Amino acid sequence: MKSQSELQKFKLSTQLSMLGRDPEQQSGFVNAPVYRGSTVVYKSCDDIRHKRARFSYGTSGTPTIENLENAWSTLCDAAGTVISPSGLGALALALFSVTRAGDHILVTDSVYRPTRKFCNTLLVKYGVSVTYYDPLIGGDIERLLQNNTRAILLECPGSQSFEIQDIGAIVAVAKKYAISTIIDNTWATPIFFKAHAHGIDLSVEAGTKYLGGHSDLLMGLVSATASHWPALRETYDAMAMLPGAEDCFLALRGLRTLHLRVQEAQSRGLEMARWLKRQPEVSKVLHPAFEECPGHENWKKYFTGSTGLFSIVLDRRFDQQNVEQMLDNMHVFAMGFSWGGFESLIIPFDCAEYRTATTWDPQGMTLRIQIGLEDIDDLKNDLRQGLMRLHH
Ligand SMILES: *Cc1c(COP(=O)(O)O)cnc(C)c1O
Repeated sequence: MKSQSELQKFKLSTQLSMLGRDPEQQSGFVNAPVYRGSTVVYKSCDDIRHKRARFSYGTSGTPTIENLENAWSTLCDAAGTVISPSGLGALALALFSVTRAGDHILVTDSVYRPTRKFCNTLLVKYGVSVTYYDPLIGGDIERLLQNNTRAILLECPGSQSFEIQDIGAIVAVAKKYAISTIIDNTWATPIFFKAHAHGIDLSVEAGTKYLGGHSDLLMGLVSATASHWPALRETYDAMAMLPGAEDCFLALRGLRTLHLRVQEAQSRGLEMARWLKRQPEVSKVLHPAFEECPGHENWKKYFTGSTGLFSIVLDRRFDQQNVEQMLDNMHVFAMGFSWGGFESLIIPFDCAEYRTATTWDPQGMTLRIQIGLEDIDDLKNDLRQGLMRLHH
């Protein structure tokens, strides 16, 4: 297996081709075998007493899990990675690894809703207090700090609402007070945003989305800088929240084409967003590459691309019933949660249901759209007919 430093001499797509496999150790086969396992056997009493083996038991890792961990660390330029059975699980691991009873954390008001639920239920129950902040706060986040503030959880762009934060300004404040930073980087993936290079301590990816890419995988990955790696690994080992072997296989397979799929998602997402912007029923496109997206200048500053998920605001004359007419009768777009797969999705949403630090008033009904790999004309026709149904 090539080492992280050997691999990092190559450009991205070459790395993605080589990561996590070594034909010389795999009887010549291109891909690594899938290890499923609990028990690991030892040769002698002495070996077992000293746990003298590369792997000691299934919960402490397998070659399959390790291949994916190392691959992800190389891609993210991280000191280490842990992998959990869902994106939400990965966020939980990251938050548990940096907090203890009595701490305070700052969380963006635009955070993925189940993350908010985790903070408000479990973290609070274990004695951690939470303050939500305006995703556009930038360096003024300093004013929200308390003596016991231990971590800041960012998510860019915001779930559903797509605000882009001034990551550099927030990281600068965090560094000044030795506060840990965590980012949910699922939308951009490490292909379009290198979290650790921007000073973030822990970066979380819901592998469920673009890494899997086929809506058949649930997985979360947390990568860490050297300073945050020991605590993250310790938290992970204490909980044994590990991924299944087949899931690691699917993620490693997804990794080979991740760059192609996010680049395709970018160009299709942009084409569809530009097209939607021209439709008279659409008042606003919340896509980070658009000037009207809150925090667009931060996207230009920190990100090297965009993917295929964005939201739109409909003209204010349309109501819930109009939207139901539209969405209940789509032919190509399906309605469902998650995104990052090959299929196009559309869902209605309302951030006002859960926001606490900011008011959400987009002046019209809002829809979130994931652009899949179907024919662009079919997608436009389906949306055009849907937008016409708004008038019924
Ligand atoms: C989907 C998602 C998650 C959670 O991933 P799961 O694997 O579904 O638990 C976390 N953050 C963001 C931004 C997501 O879109």
